[in-house]
Amino acid sequence: MKPAPFDLIRPTDPAAAGLALAAGDGTAKVVSGSQSLGPMLNLRLARPEQLIDVTSLPGLTAMRETATHVEIGAAVTHARIEDGECPEPIAGILHHVAGGIAYRAVRNRGTIGGSLCHADPAADWVTAMTALGASVIATGPGGAREIAMTDFMLGAYRTALATNEIVTLIRIPRHSVEARWGYYKICRKVGEFADAIGAFVADPVSRTCRVVFGATGGAPLLSAELAGHVARTGAPAEIAAVKEVLANSGQALSEIKIHQLAVAHRRSVLEALADA
Ligand SMILES: Cc1cc2nc3c(=O)[nH]c(=O)nc-3n(C[C@H](O)[C@H](O)[C@H](O)COP(=O)(O)OP(=O)(O)OC[C@H]3O[C@@H](n4cnc5c(N)ncnc54)[C@H](O)[C@@H]3O)c2cc1C
Repeated sequence: MKPAPFDLIRPTDPAAAGLALAAGDGTAKVVSGSQSLGPMLNLRLARPEQLIDVTSLPGLTAMRETATHVEIGAAVTHARIEDGECPEPIAGILHHVAGGIAYRAVRNRGTIGGSLCHADPAADWVTAMTALGASVIATGPGGAREIAMTDFMLGAYRTALATNEIVTLIRIPRHSVEARWGYYKICRKVGEFADAIGAFVADPVSRTCRVVFGATGGAPLLSAELAGHVARTGAPAEIAAVKEVLANSGQALSEIKIHQLAVAHRRSVLEALADA
């Protein structure tokens, strides 16, 4: 099947994109790499009358490093990150996460901003960016605002974006050279969407330690309790203790999901601490 007819709009700045979204009054949709939206259009699960292409907006394909942050334009593809074009907030983490997304043809087109906005619970960037303490810059006709990742993804396929906003930039704090990370994705075949993700980031200089579970069915789950355990003991909690935390997390997780998440968590921490 092919998509229902639509008009393609190429705005010249983010505010114009926001205005076009608002003018569409629910009939317009942003398109970036089209790797998630494209199949929905083809199956006619989405039938927007206007598609607003953000991939050629100024700044959306740029990447840069400031004294404190790495900034990635929303329309930067997974492939460019995999290829090492992007500065790293901690050595190797973005390259690793990008390389595990789907296969190269998808990575050539799919974008980091598109992935965050799609907000698929099983996707990689939503979990990795939460573990890195990242935020997104949402821009609309009224200007730009910064939204922490922990406030951005509200649930499965739901974000805090207003109807006239697009994501223009992702900001990731730079970590010290002593920082450690681990990212363990459980999936049936390499490059598939995750069944479970364990992400771990610790920086002794800024005294941050984050434990994040991904592919939980909702927004990524942070555990201060498990992060505290690693910070205190220098080791991950035992599987039974991790499972208990997950069982009491308030999220409806099946027994198998809890087991997979617990294993992914332990492996991510062990990976991170292996060369410490
Ligand atoms: C076969 C296959 C396997 C995949 N495997 C994985 C995987 O293992 N891990 C993983 O993480 N992902 C996976 N993906 C998804 C892929 O990473 C997509 O790139 C991603 O989900 C969407 O990015 P996109 O740029 O293609 O966005 P699009 O499909 O263009 O858009 C997705 C949604 O986001 C909105 N949107 C896009 N950009 C913006 C913006 N800047 N501001 C506001 N809204 C915006 C669109 O309106 C749409 O609702 C897979 C996809 C396929 C087809």
